[in-house]
Amino acid sequence: MRLRHVKYAKDLIQAHPEFIITQPKQYRGRWQKRFNNTNPIEIEIGCGKGKFIYESALNHPEKNFIGIEKFDSVIVRALEKVIDHPLPNLLLVRMDATEIHDVFMPGEIDGLYLNFSDPWPKKRHAKRRLTSPRFLERYHLILKENSYIQMKTDNYPLFEYSMMMFNHHLQYDIQSCFIDLYRCDVSENIQTEFEKKFVSEGHSIFYLKIIYKGVAHEKVL
Ligand code: SAM
Repeated sequence: MRLRHVKYAKDLIQAHPEFIITQPKQYRGRWQKRFNNTNPIEIEIGCGKGKFIYESALNHPEKNFIGIEKFDSVIVRALEKVIDHPLPNLLLVRMDATEIHDVFMPGEIDGLYLNFSDPWPKKRHAKRRLTSPRFLERYHLILKENSYIQMKTDNYPLFEYSMMMFNHHLQYDIQSCFIDLYRCDVSENIQTEFEKKFVSEGHSIFYLKIIYKGVAHEKVL
């Protein structure tokens, strides 16, 4: 994805600490307090311009949502949506997800979304994929027992790689696996920006739903 530099992004982000957090480690273990309720918390890593996380928060006032994105020039578009129409159950966090275990406590997260994550096709970049063993270990450190990870992508090699990684990891079980989401009967599908574009171009959307079992279980081989 080519990144367009947005000149005013940094200033706008700094001006709205009520909507977007740039020093998130201070809230570790205290996110529900930050939301001022005890509702479950779901996060999207790589939320881009925020369409998915914004509409998720709008549709589910009974949950809290956090959109995580590493680039100012991208997340500023999500921030603009929130400034126009604030939602009490939505926060944005500008950070690199490699630090996620320093931002959330064990069991603090009830759901995790990975939508159209960068595929990093070169083998030497594999550890940057958001479903590499490095990241699966970090998710294991923040997810609640029996919580879930939902992944959507148009990229078959990333889909196949992710299935293998989840399958190899003892703490995760693949609950659903679709090779064409739009031919399946799912109860709710909120489109992301990338998804809207890919669907309009006729691409298949691959989908995985993973259950995080927690530490006490062992996979039956
Ligand atoms: N989820 C959005 C969608 O489906 O429209 C955006 C998809 S875009 C291909 C992937 C996004 O993930 C980019 O905005 C990128 O900056 C972000 N991203 C990739 N690696 C990340 C990381 N380690 N931490 C935070 N954001 C990341």
